[in-house]
Amino acid sequence: MSTNACIAKRTANGWQGVIHHFDGYPSGLGKAIWNCVKHFNGNWARATEYLIDDHPAGWSSICEADFSKEPGFVEHGSHASNSPKCYCHGDRHDEPDMIYEGELEDTSCRWLYIIDQGVLEIYKVENAELTRIADASFRVEFEDDDWEMLDNHPRLITSKRVS
Ligand SMILES: [Zn+2]
Repeated sequence: MSTNACIAKRTANGWQGVIHHFDGYPSGLGKAIWNCVKHFNGNWARATEYLIDDHPAGWSSICEADFSKEPGFVEHGSHASNSPKCYCHGDRHDEPDMIYEGELEDTSCRWLYIIDQGVLEIYKVENAELTRIADASFRVEFEDDDWEMLDNHPRLITSKRVS
């Protein structure tokens, strides 16, 4: 079972992003995006560039990934490796596949993550409806329990918002 999600950034016309194939719920991908920003020492703009612009074909999985490792797809033994697995480097060289605001309905994405201004906006996608369930500031520490709570209680949560 895969849970598709979209990792996006704000643009003049809304947002644009790439598809992430596996484990797109908050305790999988949400936490992984978080870890990626931490890897870049909290530089969310640089992390956004890495996650979207540098790997425009999208990702198989960055969950539990070690971001210090060379990103790329691994054809064999992919489950044993904890490198970030994109579709444009390593054993795959897929074409760029950007998704833009308004196109999410045409995908099977169940979650949308928009990285903007030091905050990770988390949206649940259901019946083509977007519900913003959390704004997770990169300046706040999160425990595994927090991410799991977001998986299981898909409703507006404001307690983790830091302005
Ligand atoms: Zn790539």
